[in-house]
Amino acid sequence: MPEEPRQPGGDPVGLTEIVGQASAVSRLQRMLAGGRMPHALLFFGPRGVGRRTTAEALARTLLCAKPDKTPEGLRACGACESCRLAAGGSHPDLHPVYKELARYHDDPAVRNRVMQDLGIAVIRSFLIAPAMQGATLGRGKVFLVREADRMSIPAQNALLKTLEEPPAGVTIILLARQAEQMLPTTRSRCASVRFGPLPAEFVRERLQAAAVAAEEAEFWSRFTEGSIGRALELHGLGLYEVQRDLTGRLAALATGGEDGLGEHLADLQEKLSGEFVRRAREADGGELSRTLAGRQAAAALLELVASVYRDAMAVACGAETPPIHADDPRAIETVAERFPADQLAEILEQLTRFEGLLWRNVNAKLLWDNLAITCESAAPLGSY
Ligand SMILES: [Zn+2]
Repeated sequence: MPEEPRQPGGDPVGLTEIVGQASAVSRLQRMLAGGRMPHALLFFGPRGVGRRTTAEALARTLLCAKPDKTPEGLRACGACESCRLAAGGSHPDLHPVYKELARYHDDPAVRNRVMQDLGIAVIRSFLIAPAMQGATLGRGKVFLVREADRMSIPAQNALLKTLEEPPAGVTIILLARQAEQMLPTTRSRCASVRFGPLPAEFVRERLQAAAVAAEEAEFWSRFTEGSIGRALELHGLGLYEVQRDLTGRLAALATGGEDGLGEHLADLQEKLSGEFVRRAREADGGELSRTLAGRQAAAALLELVASVYRDAMAVACGAETPPIHADDPRAIETVAERFPADQLAEILEQLTRFEGLLWRNVNAKLLWDNLAITCESAAPLGSY
């Protein structure tokens, strides 16, 4: 699965087209305008809010032969050789760095290793070594390190010197969700640029522009808390229909009118994990293990289930925040009428616990059956 789908509406060629991240972009524009672009940057923030799109736009601007000066700031021209190569994804001086590159490593031992993190072999061969070589087009080199918060500690240590004093013309942009997971020594060598969640309204409009129906767009904009990338991903997985159905079933369960929820969830997990495997293969030719895909699928389903109880909890507590499930208020009321707030809190806690159990090899069907009992009665999950 790609870490961050692009913003819909085509690839932006320059920073001026980036929407929804005004503070990050204006900061970058000030750095560009003042000729003070740091050589190491850390873009951090939630997934799907435009970190990677912005980094690519910045890279194109830095590498462009003749960037346009617009009232909003610099913008890659889109026409020079550099811009054309970047648009085609084949710029010799624009280097994406990501853990799956291990597959192209010279050493078969590295190629065959399970790619859990971004390891030292990838950082050495695909960042440190090429950074030492001169730029092909002569306007510098840019390295975009995806999932930098998954760099192993040896990889981070190996990179320190390059971050501290990159060869002339080299810019390194680290993309991370949780900057605090990285070594302080890595963070302190980079200029940090924070990317916040996008406004719900912005996400909704963008989804509708991508032909997502109004009701669904409304739902994902609140569910994802301002992540357009994630909203598009969940939409693409067809999970809106799944959530409508699940919400109905959870309401029915609260009034004793639902059998077979556990089995239904186990089936959904199976189907969804197959989809994750297929997508990983399409995205970057990567093989996602069945186990990992199963956990991702279960986590996505759990989040849908939890959102129902979170909404019910908000109703039970008289909160004024708009519900996520505005498309089915009756279902939420039904759940809120069935359980007092303390039991809803208990269910939510058990859902969190469930996620932890997924990482042990407990039988999935058995787990989902247990979860259905928890959702019906607020009883704790069994012990395993
Ligand atoms: Zn250009």
